[in-house]
Amino acid sequence: MKLYNTLSRKIEDFELINDKKVLFYHCGPTVYWVQHIGNLRAMTWADLIRRALIYLDYDIKFVRNYTDVGHLTSDQDSGEDKMEKGAKREGITPQQIADKYIAIFENDTKALNIIDPDYKPRASQYIKEMQEMIKTLIEKGFAYVTDLAVIYDVSKFPDYNKLNKQKLDFNQQGAGKGVVEDPEKRHFADFNLWVFKKGTHKNALQTWPSPWGEGFPGWHIECSVMAKSILGETIDIHMGGVEHIPVHHTNEIAQSEAANGKLFVRYWLHNEHLNVDNEKMAKSQGTGFTLKEIVNKGFDAITLRYFFLSAHYRSKQNFTWEALEAAESSLKKLRTIVLDLKANESHETNESNMADFKQQFAEALSNDFQIPQAVAVMWNLVKSNLAPQEKLKLLLDFDKVFGLRLIEVAEEKIPKEIIKLAEERKLARQSKDFKKSDELRIKIEELGFKIEDTDEGYTIKKL
Ligand SMILES: [Zn+2]
Repeated sequence: MKLYNTLSRKIEDFELINDKKVLFYHCGPTVYWVQHIGNLRAMTWADLIRRALIYLDYDIKFVRNYTDVGHLTSDQDSGEDKMEKGAKREGITPQQIADKYIAIFENDTKALNIIDPDYKPRASQYIKEMQEMIKTLIEKGFAYVTDLAVIYDVSKFPDYNKLNKQKLDFNQQGAGKGVVEDPEKRHFADFNLWVFKKGTHKNALQTWPSPWGEGFPGWHIECSVMAKSILGETIDIHMGGVEHIPVHHTNEIAQSEAANGKLFVRYWLHNEHLNVDNEKMAKSQGTGFTLKEIVNKGFDAITLRYFFLSAHYRSKQNFTWEALEAAESSLKKLRTIVLDLKANESHETNESNMADFKQQFAEALSNDFQIPQAVAVMWNLVKSNLAPQEKLKLLLDFDKVFGLRLIEVAEEKIPKEIIKLAEERKLARQSKDFKKSDELRIKIEELGFKIEDTDEGYTIKKL
């Protein structure tokens, strides 16, 4: 298994601390709004990577958190808490906002056939553990307390820029990007660990007592602490969007490694963004599409999943309605093929015929999760001269990774008898015997099923 590690900017061999047990942390959403399809692409890709590792026989402990406090509107330390912004917008409490948007998010991930994480911690449930880590950081000299916050001192952590590869100029006090709202902050890259209910945040809605003062946690400490509490001090894979490299993940490393005195993450994986019509997605432009908007246009969620399979996670992907239509047509074709194979299968499969495709598929996955290449292997399989039952077996096997619910197509309670009639009808149509094809359609309907013709063949549904 080889994968690209952002830490080294290189493809590396994937080696584990515990034999075949992968400790995997994925930065989950801040639950103050409906997630757009760009975020859902990131979630789908973490799922594809998790499924690929399972396919390759790894055992995984997978965590995806919910941020329900402390993520300010700027990823630096300025602005309003996003949860409070949501609460004010809708006139309910931050926790009600969290419940509402977690429910929508989980419906979306379910529709996309994303396997539920083993753990889904909410940041607000780990306040005590966060305070313990902050206490350790103060004791070890990595943090200082101002009138407004407990702040991480990046100058004390020599490896601060090992992930983002940036250079810090310590003469540039308080300068640089981001708005520094705390005049006692020593360096612009220093960041909040705990924010007091004071100043800009004097009316904060979610606060807890702490040894340093009433307040709420900084966003970065949340992930460091949830990862440690659930997975341990050193984890194998940490994944998130490329936008997290310069600040969020850089700060997570600084906190965890300073507090624990150990390497935090062995392999950092970062997904690229989804564009719409070659532009950055933007709510203000009406291009921050949600899954609901996609479904309302008549597409099913699995079509969107199929679309996500066509670009590697480290590449930008461009969303257009035409591209989604192309994905829909391929998926329909695939579903028809599954039904066709089901109608024509017999019992015997020859493993040695299948070995070659299985190997090509595993090789694509092992090469930094080349899912688009794995999809190409699948289409080559369909075109090959393997027996129907062999093709079907492999398609369903590959779909454990793709997650296109082909098993449901194959096992939909459509009796063989119906499929046989449908196949007969297809032949009748091909030979332009429309009288016969109509008779067969009526017969199928009498038996309680509806047949619909598509460009690629047909689909059958229960009436
Ligand atoms: Zn995170």
